[in-house]
Amino acid sequence: MHSSTRCAVIGAGIAGLTCAYELKQGGLSVHVYERDPTIGGRMGTRCKHHLAFDVGANFLVRAYTSVLQLADELGVAVRCASPVEQVVYRGGQLYRMNMTSMRDVLRLKGVRLWSRLELMACVIRLRLKHRQALDFFDLSSTPDELNHEDAYSYARREISQEFADYILDAFHSCMMFSRSTEASAAAFVALLSMMIDPSFDFSILHTVGDMQAIPDAIAGSVPVSTGCAVTGLEPDARGWRVTTAGSSQVYRNVVLATTAGAAHSLLSRGPTAARELVRATRYATTINVSFRVPRNILGRVHCFYIPYVENQVVSELTNESLKGETTTHEGWSLINVGLHESAARELVERTDGEVFELVKKELLSLKPGLHLAEPYDLQRWPEAIPKYDCAQIARVRSFQEVGQGEGGLYLCGDYLNAPWIEGASRSGRKVARSILTLASQVPQ
Ligand SMILES: Cc1cc2nc3c(=O)[nH]c(=O)nc-3n(C[C@H](O)[C@H](O)[C@H](O)COP(=O)(O)OP(=O)(O)OC[C@H]3O[C@@H](n4cnc5c(N)ncnc54)[C@H](O)[C@@H]3O)c2cc1C
Repeated sequence: MHSSTRCAVIGAGIAGLTCAYELKQGGLSVHVYERDPTIGGRMGTRCKHHLAFDVGANFLVRAYTSVLQLADELGVAVRCASPVEQVVYRGGQLYRMNMTSMRDVLRLKGVRLWSRLELMACVIRLRLKHRQALDFFDLSSTPDELNHEDAYSYARREISQEFADYILDAFHSCMMFSRSTEASAAAFVALLSMMIDPSFDFSILHTVGDMQAIPDAIAGSVPVSTGCAVTGLEPDARGWRVTTAGSSQVYRNVVLATTAGAAHSLLSRGPTAARELVRATRYATTINVSFRVPRNILGRVHCFYIPYVENQVVSELTNESLKGETTTHEGWSLINVGLHESAARELVERTDGEVFELVKKELLSLKPGLHLAEPYDLQRWPEAIPKYDCAQIARVRSFQEVGQGEGGLYLCGDYLNAPWIEGASRSGRKVARSILTLASQVPQ
């Protein structure tokens, strides 16, 4: 219908791919440029010795409506790993830390009864005040009043110090790769309110064919050039000139779906609001380290959280054997180890051997006798997950009001107040819908 409206999407992570898919479904002509030889960005998979290693994102939950809709439309099967256990380490012991209902809150044995009751009271106060669960995947929609304090201080004040240290901060270091002192209370409250609300299902899911399966399926339906880094992006009388090593093309609309750092290096002459936003966005750094282990070593435990107050190097272990056949082979599987941000920043320039050695030493100090067969693989992520602090949430909100789409240039990705793969995917959909709405108003 509008096929003469040419759009370029720069970056084939889940945000860019969702956007391209929606644009194509809406009848626009779209081309995706991807710098790396493979697609998926922080949602990719590497496979060696018969075991798959999800180098970035490694699970979905049922509440991911955008991602699961894509999986459904594209015929990618998903499998439920739940029921599984989440556990937190405290003083050499492990305590159950599942938190998907009020009943779970009462059973959080890693903190005293008093903290659990304070947490329940806090949830009830929030529910009375906000009526509906807040939307963690669209932090721009969270109330201003929660966006003046960091999550750790809020939890310490509203609940307790031990909750802040052993539940919130442990969860944050594991899922966001930074301390909860670096996030807005709005992000914490939004996630907590969704997790505890029975209308959102946080059961753990895996895609059949590994995390890469959804990006691969989308890429099968939109044109993507891989190994094709965009090196220049210049405003042009007809839109934007996109330059790569082998081509230079003009598009009416450009969607910059890279991380903020990569967008910043391309936007030397872009609109001020977009340039300011990507310049100011900060990320947590992490290294995803993987070891080969006997497949049943962690039983039904999905994730093993290690609070910063207990250990300053390792923040978590994830049990890959729960995913099924591609992550198990002849009795072996993998554990993925996450690091606290301060350790990751220190180790990010060290050799693989040095990282494996230090991580192994820390793991054995936490769990003596743990059978780690051998180092398997690792992936460094200098820009792992954006820091959703108060300033970032406010900056993105005002960019979305006044800067998004200026001159046909759109930003999308998880740093636009859109955490995790679900947020990134929704941010791609939102941009596509804005472009389609405008295109339907312009005579072709
Ligand atoms: C270790 C780790 C574990 C995680 N675990 C989970 C999890 O279990 N569940 C979850 O929901 N989320 C998880 N996340 C977060 C999730 O992976 C991200 O939020 C999401 O994948 C971001 O998608 P994106 O499309 O915004 O960005 P990206 O995936 O980073 O995509 C950006 C793309 O742009 C490309 N690019 C950059 N520069 C250029 C250029 N000049 N030209 C062309 N292309 C370019 C990049 O190569 C990349 O492919 C995890 C993240 C990490 C790092």
